[in-house]
Amino acid sequence: MSDSPTNTLITWVEVSKNSDFTIYNLPFGVFQNKRLSPRIGIAIGDKIVDLSILDQEGFFSDMFLPEGVFLSESLNELIALGKVITKKIRERVQELLLADNEKLRDNSSRGKVMVNRKEATMLMPVKIGDYTDFYSSMEHATNVGKMFRDPENALLPNWKHLPVGYHGRASSIIPSGVPITRPKGQTKDPETGAPVFGPSKKLDFELELAFITGKPTKLGDSISTADAEEYIFGFVLFNDWSARDIQAWEYVPLGPFLGKSFASSISPWVVTLEALEQFKVESPVQEPEVLDYLKCAKSHSFDIQLEAYIQPDGEKGSKVSTSNFKNMYWNVAQQLAHHTVNGCNINVGDMMASGTISGQERDSFGSMLELSWNGKDAVKLESGTERKFIEDGDTVIMKGFAEKDGRRVGFGEVKAKVLPAK
Ligand code: MN
Repeated sequence: MSDSPTNTLITWVEVSKNSDFTIYNLPFGVFQNKRLSPRIGIAIGDKIVDLSILDQEGFFSDMFLPEGVFLSESLNELIALGKVITKKIRERVQELLLADNEKLRDNSSRGKVMVNRKEATMLMPVKIGDYTDFYSSMEHATNVGKMFRDPENALLPNWKHLPVGYHGRASSIIPSGVPITRPKGQTKDPETGAPVFGPSKKLDFELELAFITGKPTKLGDSISTADAEEYIFGFVLFNDWSARDIQAWEYVPLGPFLGKSFASSISPWVVTLEALEQFKVESPVQEPEVLDYLKCAKSHSFDIQLEAYIQPDGEKGSKVSTSNFKNMYWNVAQQLAHHTVNGCNINVGDMMASGTISGQERDSFGSMLELSWNGKDAVKLESGTERKFIEDGDTVIMKGFAEKDGRRVGFGEVKAKVLPAK
């Protein structure tokens, strides 16, 4: 296995030292540019390997892939071929990019295969069927419980027994770079207690990761925690935009609705589970003990550093949060096992987001709601500008990467600018 932790891999592609897209990563994405129609590629350094050209040139001829599978506007059809195939494709690309492999390096098609990432527009990587958002960070759930309910009993009685989640809206999930419009809605006037209508005054981000499912289940069937990773294709960064004032007024008793459904932004490169495997760490101890269907025989937690930045119009970006995916109380296998334990079926291209990922320290909180403690304390940016929530013209940027033994696997970024309400 070329990914084995003892093996140092060297590529003939120029990859800068801090690049997220190393030979160990090789994430899948969908791109187009002025010349090329939408197609599937793999990122390395500042380049994209155009898989459709590699295929045309016969580099996958022994795999008998469906014709034109890489000339698609989404990864769904490719992912549906199964992990055995997508793993083989990724490993073939890895082989071809190794410094001592001349097959592509010295091939006359090399110029056509390697596309500049700068000139490409990244599209939504998958056509998302259903989207679920979990609430799996204990620190985040505790902070929200303290602010909105009871500081003494911040976690509700069910929280440590099941991974709480809600079904979200797939239609408004957008790729990085697409601006969002400040949502309008009903909120409760803090002075009079009466409902008022207008643009949200508490627009917020949520720092999350999301996984994309790569294998369907039949209605009535469930996934065990032991099998869960077979159903996970890969991960993206996920900014679950939230309007706190709309959310606070509407959420009782059925949970989030318009305060969440106006937009969520994702990073366009899907980092595979295989690439993240080497960054696994022990899962946190769960006390009280969970029910049998939620028990795990091995770890499903990953050490992935996550960062959130705010960039006001005309200013530089300032980091406002540094968190880590390993902080999550509930892991991805438990989320998938719980999601399907009632027989609910999943499809290829479903998106399951983690919920806001907060750590214990103030500067590791994954939302402005927590960073400003619901608007009580302003967050100071590098320029001296202060923010309690997100203002019009601000761009929110999220980054994420794992690093170990000189190997780096990252997500690039997800960014979106906030436009004034219509
Ligand atoms: Mn969320």
